[in-house]
Amino acid sequence: MRVDELPVDERLKAVLKERGIGELYPPQAEALKSGALEGRNLVLAIPTASGKTLVSEIVMVDKLLREGGKAVYLVPLKALAEEKYREFKEWEKLGLKVAATTGDYDSTDDWLGRYDIIVATAEKFDSLLRHGARWIDDVKLVVADEVHLIGSYDRGATLEMILTHMLGRAQILALSATVGNAEELAEWLDASLVVSDWRPVQLRRGVFHLGTLVWEDGKVESYPENWYSLVTDAVKRGKGALVFVNTRRSAEKEALAISKLVSSHLTKPEKRALESLANQLEDNPTSEKLKRAIKGGVAFHHAGLSRVERTLIEDAFREGLIKVITATPTLSAGVNLPSFRVIIRDTKRYAGFGWTDIPVLEIQQMMGRAGRPRYDKYGEAIIVARTDEPGKLMERYIRGKPEKLFSMLANEQAFRSQVLALITNFGIKSFSELVRFLEKTFYAHQRKDLSSLEYKAKEVVYFLIENEFIDLDLDDSFMPLPFGKRTSQLYIDPLTAKKFKDAFPAIERNPNPFGIFQLIASTPDMATLTARRREMEDYLDLAYELEDKLYASIPYYEDSRFQGFLGQVKTAKVLLDWINEVPEARIYETYLIDPGDLYRLLELADWLMYSLIELYKLFEPKEEILNYLRDLHLRLRHGVREELLELVRLPNIGRKRARALYNAGFKSVEAIANAKPAELLEVEGIGAKILDGIYRYLGIEKRVAEEKPKRKGTLEDFLR
Ligand code: ADP
Repeated sequence: MRVDELPVDERLKAVLKERGIGELYPPQAEALKSGALEGRNLVLAIPTASGKTLVSEIVMVDKLLREGGKAVYLVPLKALAEEKYREFKEWEKLGLKVAATTGDYDSTDDWLGRYDIIVATAEKFDSLLRHGARWIDDVKLVVADEVHLIGSYDRGATLEMILTHMLGRAQILALSATVGNAEELAEWLDASLVVSDWRPVQLRRGVFHLGTLVWEDGKVESYPENWYSLVTDAVKRGKGALVFVNTRRSAEKEALAISKLVSSHLTKPEKRALESLANQLEDNPTSEKLKRAIKGGVAFHHAGLSRVERTLIEDAFREGLIKVITATPTLSAGVNLPSFRVIIRDTKRYAGFGWTDIPVLEIQQMMGRAGRPRYDKYGEAIIVARTDEPGKLMERYIRGKPEKLFSMLANEQAFRSQVLALITNFGIKSFSELVRFLEKTFYAHQRKDLSSLEYKAKEVVYFLIENEFIDLDLDDSFMPLPFGKRTSQLYIDPLTAKKFKDAFPAIERNPNPFGIFQLIASTPDMATLTARRREMEDYLDLAYELEDKLYASIPYYEDSRFQGFLGQVKTAKVLLDWINEVPEARIYETYLIDPGDLYRLLELADWLMYSLIELYKLFEPKEEILNYLRDLHLRLRHGVREELLELVRLPNIGRKRARALYNAGFKSVEAIANAKPAELLEVEGIGAKILDGIYRYLGIEKRVAEEKPKRKGTLEDFLR
C-alpha cells in the first residue's frame, strides 16, 4: 500500500514523504486497514523494527488532527520515553505539541494539559491516573508499546490495570512482540488483531556448536572451534556484532577478551577515535574495564553503566566505530540498536534458586535485533550451543513458538497496591463493586474463574482496614482514609507505608540517618543490595555496633530474615557513605557495585524518603523532626554533609563543587555573593559559565572575567 492511498490527513502524508516513506510494509498496511483509523482497538504483534511505531504515529496524528484531544504513548523504560519523544517531536511541524514525563510520582502534572502527544512510562501514567489529573479526560487514544510486558512478574499488573481503566474510555493500540496467545489479548481488548512475522530485513537463524554452524534451512558452515570466530568473522567483513550473555560480569569479561581479537582489525584513525572516546568516560572501576575494551573496538552494555556511558556506547556502535557490544538481555528489550550479526552465548540464566531456560519470547527478541534496515540485505542470529545439544536449541528457540502471556495481576505486592488505589482513588465503594471491576481485567478474561483472586482481594481489604488505610462507614461502604489516599498517590506499596507509620514513634525518639536508611532499605519498594557471604560478618558487626540507632531488632541467625537484614544494613551503609561525601569511585570499589546501581539506589531512596516525610505529615508531626527529615532528604539528594546544604541549593553546584567552595572558605551563599569573581574562579570546578549561572540565580549583576587559565598540562600531555 502506498502512503498516497492512505485515507488520512494530507499534511500527515506530506510529513511521511519528507521522511522518505512512500510505501507501507505489508503488516503496516494490514494494521491500518483493520479499523484502527476508524477508532477500533488494535493488537499489533509483529517483530521488532518492522514498523510498529510508524503505525501508531499514523493513527495518533490522524486522530488528533481530526478530533483533537490527546494521545498517550506508554513505554516500559525511561530511556525509551526519551527516544520516542525525540522521534515524535517531528509532529510539532503540524502544530501538535509533544511531551515526555517519567519521574515524580506525586504530581498531577497539570502542565501536560497543554500537550497533545504525551509519552510516559506505565508507572508514571498509573500515578497520574491515581492523582486524577484532569487532562486525562481528554485522552482519546492510548498506545501501549511492548504490551507483552503484561506477562512480566513485577511490571505486568500496572500495565494491565491501566488498560482496564482506559478500556472503553479511549481507543487502545497495543503493540507487542510475537507471543503465543495474541488472540487472547485481542479478545480481551475487543480489538482487531494483526499478527505477522514479516520483517523489513530478512533474518537467518542458526545454531553453532564447536565450529559447526547449522542454519535453519539446513546449510552448514565451518568455523574455528571457539565461538569468538563468529565475532571476528563479522568484523572482518566490515560488519558489527551484538553478543548476548547472561550476567554483567560475563559481558565485561567477554568484551575484554574479544577486544584483544578485534583490535588487530582496526585502522589507525579508528584507534585514535576510540582512544578519544574512551577518554571521555569518567574514572571508576567499571569504566576502567570499559575503556580498555573500547580501545579495542568493543564495549559491554549492562544495567550497571551510567546513562552517559550507555548513550556514548550506543551512538558509537550505530556509527560503526564500536564494532562489537557484549550485553545482558536488558538491551534486547530496550533501545533500538540493530546489528548485522547477533550471537547468543547463553540460553540459561541464574534465577534465585537455580538455572532456568531463558524464555523463547526473550531469545526471539534478542535474535530480532539482527539486520540493520538500509545497511544489511539480511541479518544473522546465531545461538551458541554449549552443554545443550544443538538440535534441542534449534527446536526450542528457532522452530518453537514463544510462550503465552499470563496475567500477573495476582502478584501480591502489585495487587495490594492496585486494590488500595481502586478504593481510594477510583471510587470503588464496596466489595461487589471491586469484583465487578476485576471482572474487566485480563486476569478475569484469561482465567474465567475469579474465585482465587476474590479471596486475595478479601485478604487485602482486611489488611487495609486493619491498618487504617481505609474504613467502613455506617452502611458498610468503603471509606478512604487520608493515610490510604496519600499512600496510593505516593505510589508506594501499602506495606512500605505501614512500616513507615509503625516506625514514626521510634524516629521521633531517636532520629538518625542509619536507622532511617535501614528502615527504607527494609521496605518492599527498595532495591536492597545483597550481602555476600564473606561480607556477612562485617555487616553483622556493624549492625551490633550501631544497634542503638536501629528501629528494628537484629534477627537471629536462624531467622529467615537474617540474610535480608544484612543486605539492608549494607544498603544503609552505602547511603550513609553517600551523605558523608565518600567519593563515588570508593563506593563502587567498597561495595562492588556499578554506577548504574548506585544511581538507582539513590533514586529509589530519594523517593522513599520523600514519601516517609509526606506520610509523617499526616500524624501530628513535630516541627523539629520534620525539619530534621527534610534536611536528611536534601543530604540524600545531593550526597553531602549538613554544612553544604546551603551551597547545593545553587544551580549546578553538586557535592564536588560545593565541597571545593566550602574548603576554599566560601561557606555560605552570602560569602559567595560577596566574593570577587576572580577569587571564585580559582576554585576547582568553578568556571565562568557556572559562576554566571550563580549570579543570575542570586540576581546579582557582576561581570565574570575570562575563563581562568587552564591548569598546566603534565609532561605526558606535552609529549603527546
Ligand atoms: P518497531 O517499532 O516495530 O520496532 P520502528 O517503527 O521503530 O519499528 O521502525 C524501524 C525503522 O523502520 C524506523 O527507522 C522507521 O522509520 C523505519 N520504517 C518503518 N516503516 C517504514 C516504511 N514503511 N518504509 C520505510 N521505512 C520504514
